[in-house]
Amino acid sequence: MKKKIAILGSTGSIGTQTLEVIEEHADKFEVEVLTANSNADLLIEQALKFKPNAVVIVDETHYKKVSEVLWEHDIKTYSGIEALAQIVEMEAIDIVLTALVGYAGLLPTINAIKAKKTIALANKETLVVAGELITKLARENQVAILPVDSEHSAIFQCLVGEFQNNIEKIYLTASGGPFRGKTRDELLNITKEQALKHPNWEMGAKITIDSATLMNKGFEVIEAKWLFNLKPEQIDVIVHPQSIIHSLVQFEDGSMKAQLGLPDMKHPIQYALSFPQRIFSKSARFNFLDYPQLTFEQPDTDTFLNLKLAYLALEKGGNLACILNAANEIAVEAFLNDKIAFLQIAAINQQCMKNVPFIEHPTLEDYIKTNELAREVALTLVD
Ligand code: NAD
Ligand code: MG
Repeated sequence: MKKKIAILGSTGSIGTQTLEVIEEHADKFEVEVLTANSNADLLIEQALKFKPNAVVIVDETHYKKVSEVLWEHDIKTYSGIEALAQIVEMEAIDIVLTALVGYAGLLPTINAIKAKKTIALANKETLVVAGELITKLARENQVAILPVDSEHSAIFQCLVGEFQNNIEKIYLTASGGPFRGKTRDELLNITKEQALKHPNWEMGAKITIDSATLMNKGFEVIEAKWLFNLKPEQIDVIVHPQSIIHSLVQFEDGSMKAQLGLPDMKHPIQYALSFPQRIFSKSARFNFLDYPQLTFEQPDTDTFLNLKLAYLALEKGGNLACILNAANEIAVEAFLNDKIAFLQIAAINQQCMKNVPFIEHPTLEDYIKTNELAREVALTLVD
């Protein structure tokens, strides 16, 4: 039996790489649903090639174009944000891979869990916004959340066979991004072109900026808390510029396990789809002699304040990480539109965390309202 996959955000960096994995293993996986925000041409191309049952183009202005091409091929087309949230409930789907960016991942993921679909989670923002709610819902519905993020996939792989054993702590590795070692003064006039050049990974624009500000690593700390049920003090970040060690677990006997390999997102994507099996991959193999030195540094959280803000959000809990995520989405977009400077991203995030009311035990409604309010507050700081 082939596993039937729904890819939310199939036209992005993770989405297209997921399709490459599926193509390589067409005997094991098939595409049931594809969704995209506005890239209609690529969505059509993907649908014609992979023949899903249905597609969603969220931006309704492209509906006519997509549906006109696909109806002849017996592929259903839907449009709009509600369709995105509902499509995950389709009976035939086994795995929902969440490769869309930002807060938009929250409601579809909730619905997918309620419909008892296995979640392959790339959209870390879902766990940042509402990690407590999502993990509780997954437990209640006995649904597995399999990490696609490379660091979390590494931790997950280290934990296979160790479920009885206590974790002392985990180390999330960080490349340090394009501005590792820079001072605040040197970051004053960073352009978006500079920030969009990541040394080791090719990713979508938003996560690339998040990597440059270390917001991404901060979000990954929060993501790790919820995925592996850890306390903030059990999660450490270590800068490892070569991105070969993808993360490590330290057990209570002091022993450490790490997962290594060349930086290639197709590896964690494939593992999430094939779990618990490992299946062949033709991707390039690591050669020790190409990397005679693997190095490690302490992250500079005074310069890259976002990492500190994420720990603060984790320690205080409630809706604080939801506020941080919403503020950051607005700030990153403003930076990409040349409206604010690089260092203002973290400053806006910090200001929003102070200004938006704290809720200690938020409901889903509270998260939705917090997200809206934090965006409004962040927008006033951008203009
Ligand atoms: P991307 O920008 O390349 O692609 C985003 C996809 O989501 C596109 O298909 C787009 O059409 C869709 N999308 C965007 N906004 C949407 C909205 N509002 N509603 C519905 N669909 C929307 O992003 P990416 O780099 O592939 O990242 C996707 C997710 O995976 C992010 O949460 C990111 O943090 C995470 N992630 C990415 C990588 C990576 O290597 N790219 C690694 C780890 C985790
Ligand atoms: Mg990562």
